[in-house]
Amino acid sequence: MTLFSTRGLVKQFGSLRATDDVSIEVAPNEVHALIGPNGAGKSTLVNLISGMLPADGGSIVLDGVDLTGMPPHKRVRAGLSRCFQVTNLFKKATVLSNLMLAVQSHRGSSFLPLGRRDGEAELIERAVALAGRVGLGSELDRIAGSLPHGAQRQLDVALALAANPKLLLLDEPMAGMGPDESARMVELIQLLRRDMAILLIEHDMDAVFRLADRISVLVYGKVLASGNAEQIKSHPEVQAVYLGS
Ligand code: ADP
Ligand code: MG
Repeated sequence: MTLFSTRGLVKQFGSLRATDDVSIEVAPNEVHALIGPNGAGKSTLVNLISGMLPADGGSIVLDGVDLTGMPPHKRVRAGLSRCFQVTNLFKKATVLSNLMLAVQSHRGSSFLPLGRRDGEAELIERAVALAGRVGLGSELDRIAGSLPHGAQRQLDVALALAANPKLLLLDEPMAGMGPDESARMVELIQLLRRDMAILLIEHDMDAVFRLADRISVLVYGKVLASGNAEQIKSHPEVQAVYLGS
């Protein structure tokens, strides 16, 4: 069963084909990891999928809906949500305010009816629930910018969850984290996958091998190999090109 797929995605930057005929699939509740050396085209692919960049060819389908050509906010409404590597946070606002704003911004498309008198109470309730879900339930009144880096990443994930995604896109969620913070993020991703599919771009190979059902290796804009952890670890070209052993 397939929840999400790209077919033949192409992105050209001048003479450089950053994404070259990329077809990937994500099944419901699957963690599909995308790995590859710097410059392989991973972030470009995320930007094509989220709609930040227009594709030069190919298609993107989520749950039977063709997202190709849709603006980013419509893709979010269709169930595709991404993390923004902390840049999306209001650093001077509290954790609770950040989450309330995120919930509010998705209100029209989710379960909260507009114009309800008890709307604010529901907004707070939903924001508090999101904080709890990512392990920030005791940090509601903290200024977001004063949280440790790992906790800011967790908050960033909670903001993406406010949209009730079917597919969550995570671009290097463990970047810059110490071992404890990484372990917490791995745990969080394990929890989230019960409710959604996850496309994970990550350099931390321990985390990738622990989390991913399927791993695709991108090299020079092309999918070099796709398979489970054992298949990827023993793939001769992947070892030569990427794992360097
Ligand atoms: P990765 O995330 O795997 O490190 P990127 O998707 O960031 O790779 O980049 C893939 C290739 O596309 C690189 O060679 C990069 O220099 C190039 N590239 C990325 N974005 C642009 C852009 N906006 N304009 C021109 N070239 C770009
Ligand atoms: Mg990148």
